[in-house]
Parts: sequence; C-alpha cells; structure tokens
Amino acid sequence: MADKGVLFIVSGFAGAGKGTVTKQVVKEDENIKLSISATTRDMRKGEAEGVDYFYITKEEFEQKIKNRELLEYAKYGDNYYGTPRDYVKKMLEEGKDVLLEIEVLGAAKIKASLPKTVRIFVTPPSAKELKNRLVSRGRDSAEDIEKRLNRAVDEAEDIDDYDYLLINDSIEQCVKDLHSIIEAERMKVKRQLPFISRIKKELAELNEEE
Ligand code: 5GP
Repeated sequence: MADKGVLFIVSGFAGAGKGTVTKQVVKEDENIKLSISATTRDMRKGEAEGVDYFYITKEEFEQKIKNRELLEYAKYGDNYYGTPRDYVKKMLEEGKDVLLEIEVLGAAKIKASLPKTVRIFVTPPSAKELKNRLVSRGRDSAEDIEKRLNRAVDEAEDIDDYDYLLINDSIEQCVKDLHSIIEAERMKVKRQLPFISRIKKELAELNEEE
C-alpha cells in the first residue's frame, strides 16, 4: 500500500471517550480522515448509517471477507467489525492521514502488515472512573458493563505494544494531545524523505554554482 499519508489507530477501553476525541480531531484538521467501519451490530440511538458505521448483515459481512474488501476485521462480543480497505488505501495514496478507531486485535493485525502505523491507546485515569463512565452514559445493561470491564482486563495486556498512551482526564486536553501526536509523527525524518532528497539536491547545485 502506498503511504504518502500516515495511518493512525486509536484503541481504548469501552467508555474511554475515544469516539468523542477522534471525531473532534478530524473536525479540526481536514488533512486527517476518519475511516468508517462496517459492523453487524444494531444501530444505537443517536447513530447514523455511514456516519458512525456502515450497518450490514452477517451474510454481507462474510461476503466482504471473501472478496478481500476489508483491511482487517475482528469479532467483538457477538458482532463483526471491519475496516473497508479501499477508502483507507485511497486516502493514504492522496497524502491524507487516516485515523482508525478499532479494537486491539484488529490494531495488531494492521501493525503486522503495515509497520509504519502509529498506535495510540486511550484510557480514563482509573478503573473506577471507567466504571463510572460506563454506568453514567446509561447505554449498557449491568451485564454488558460487566462484560466490557472483563474485556478491559484483556485489552490492558496489549497497551505495552502501543506507541502512545493518552489518559483522558479532560476531553479538551485529550484532543490537544492527539493533535500533538499527529503533528509530531508528520515531522518525523523518515516521513519526510522527499523533502530531504530535494534539499540535498538544491545544496549540491548551489555549491556547484559557486
Ligand atoms: P462499539 O460497538 O462500542 O461501537 O465498538 C466496539 C469496539 O469495536 C470498539 O472497541 C471499537 O473501537 C471496535 N471497532 C469499531 N470498528 C472496528 C473495526 O473496523 N475493526 C475492529 N477490529 N474493531 C472495530
């Protein structure tokens, strides 16, 4: 895959606020595009087709797997979630940076096939705060909350493999921090090789003229 743009992955515990943070960051920076995943889960209140997800059936999802339309996919709970390959490929080729908000297994698969991917993990400041947020958003049943907290124990094992850790104490600060990571990554020497070869050439020409 051509990689003029940078691929960023944001993962985190359910309730960490990663959706709010990523949506705000793409709103503020038009050079960064948020990939919309396909899922077999039901649409929640307040969500919209093509905005939060592409909602498809299990059969449609399995067809996409067969057709190699997904860059990665994973099962989360009883549902499939996957990243459409074409959109990500097109944006990176156009030099846009792409943000994926996906869970840890999908993130590991992408990192293995595209090693320059930058992975960022978002967490609330404490486990107690994580539970409070899940309870207070009032979206999940007590059983679901327990499942999500159980899953967080496994997800925490993968944090060590990530490049950055964002502690989401305030959404505003977290958005700023994510911008900083994105900008610093854009300035990495290894991502600016065309500039470096140009300035070397210019310097050589200048010296020849003198
Ligand atoms: P939710 O149902 O709460 O929207 O998402 C459940 C989990 O699935 C979250 O951790 C979210 O980051 C993850 N997820 C969303 N889209 C994808 C995807 O395309 N691939 C993978 N591997 N995980 C995803």
